[in-house]
Amino acid sequence: MEKLVRVRFAPSPTGYLHVGGLRTALYNYLFAKHNGGKFILRIEDTDQSRKVEGAVENLIATLEWAGIHYDEGPNREGNHGPYVQSERLKLYHQHAIQLVERGKAYYCFCTQERLEEIRQKQSAAKLQPSYDQHCRDLPKDEAERRNAAGEKHVVRMKVPLGGELTFEDIIRGKVTFSYSVLDDQVILKSDGFPTYHLAVVVDDHLMEITHVIRGEEWLSSTPKHVLLYQFFGWELPKFAHLPLLLNPDKSKLSKRQGDVAVEDYRAKGYLKEAIINFVAFLGWNPGDEREIFLLDELVKEFSLERVGKSGAVFNIEKLNWLNAQHLRKKPIAELLGMVKEYLSPSVGLVQSSLSNKHFDDAYVLQIIGAMRERALFVKDLIENCPYFFEPPTEYDPAIVKKRWKEQTPDHMRKLIEEFKLLEGPKKEDYEAALHRVAGALGVSNGELIHALRLAVSGMGIGPGLYDIVFILGKEETIRRISAAIERLK
Ligand code: GLU
Repeated sequence: MEKLVRVRFAPSPTGYLHVGGLRTALYNYLFAKHNGGKFILRIEDTDQSRKVEGAVENLIATLEWAGIHYDEGPNREGNHGPYVQSERLKLYHQHAIQLVERGKAYYCFCTQERLEEIRQKQSAAKLQPSYDQHCRDLPKDEAERRNAAGEKHVVRMKVPLGGELTFEDIIRGKVTFSYSVLDDQVILKSDGFPTYHLAVVVDDHLMEITHVIRGEEWLSSTPKHVLLYQFFGWELPKFAHLPLLLNPDKSKLSKRQGDVAVEDYRAKGYLKEAIINFVAFLGWNPGDEREIFLLDELVKEFSLERVGKSGAVFNIEKLNWLNAQHLRKKPIAELLGMVKEYLSPSVGLVQSSLSNKHFDDAYVLQIIGAMRERALFVKDLIENCPYFFEPPTEYDPAIVKKRWKEQTPDHMRKLIEEFKLLEGPKKEDYEAALHRVAGALGVSNGELIHALRLAVSGMGIGPGLYDIVFILGKEETIRRISAAIERLK
């Protein structure tokens, strides 16, 4: 029988969720769900110097916001906990000792000064810095004695002295490393904390992880892990190393060229659907032309076989485009909720004068309907059309110059008269009325349309004019035309 798929996302809590981290989490999640398996969140906090207050909570909140729910992890205990490495120190210690007893690892008593000395010698000789294996062949009883006497030490793994190691990667195929490039890596530090290499192997084994899916930057650590599996006599998980994320100039994705924290994109108003869709395509594609995917659609389609090897470029234009697409796809009721949140005083993103006003749902729904085809962000549904919320007090001077001529006030008065005659007008009724007036005046429809748009909105751009007029309603439209005639003398 096939083993139940178990995968993990194992971030170090550095304070925020990096876009690359979101991609790793997403691919693990998609792979688990596609295969009916489990997605585990494990917090790798053994580097206590990098600890950041609130980082774990923040990370979990961001994953949950994005809809990437974990099956086991902190606050969601399964049978393989605890899921925070700093709560598992005993396990790492036991396993390190086990390797020492089997002759696969050794105590190293070298002082910092000695290590520094060899490092300097190596760098002067232009050699790759590595441990000189000074303690590797200490007689067992001497090592035990010094250990028992409380002498400060670390535990190092005994990397074979010659030959090479090969493992399979689902994305990269056969990967081979020569042992000569692997240091006698420290696995347990003098403070009793494990290094990443030991902790990750012990945990992946004990948590019964079947597939290790992570960023390419961990590829060079994998031979050390494979070796540790061999030392312990454990079955290897399958490995899949995801391609690097690149800036448009092909350099490694960095903070310098833009935001890398998922929270920043969230704060800017990107929809989680767009972010997930975008991140899914950073290294994967469905093999055809389709580009718009929701999370559950990605679950159906995802496979590691369709993940590429070459670096994936982070293209913000693509994200913007996807945001607009998902904005159009979103159920209108959901958008209503989001728009109302923007209008609420607690969010205060809109001019405070609006925050106190009440707009009924039917009204806001009409605005969303008119605006959503031309909006990139939810906030655009409000901020690009202030005239739906307050009458214009200013008129775009360039448009005034172009569209408001000497004869325009007269034309507008005629329009008012014609509009007054309309009863319960629909969109088409305003249009027909305007055409009648234009005909009677012997001017083009366009001339009236532009002037009317300016009068009711103060602007030269926006959704269809008759949509605006219909949403504002007859009384308000007439009021605004009169006000414009007064003000634009
Ligand atoms: N703790 C590592 C990180 O911060 C995890 C690497 C791995 O998945 O093995 O990304």
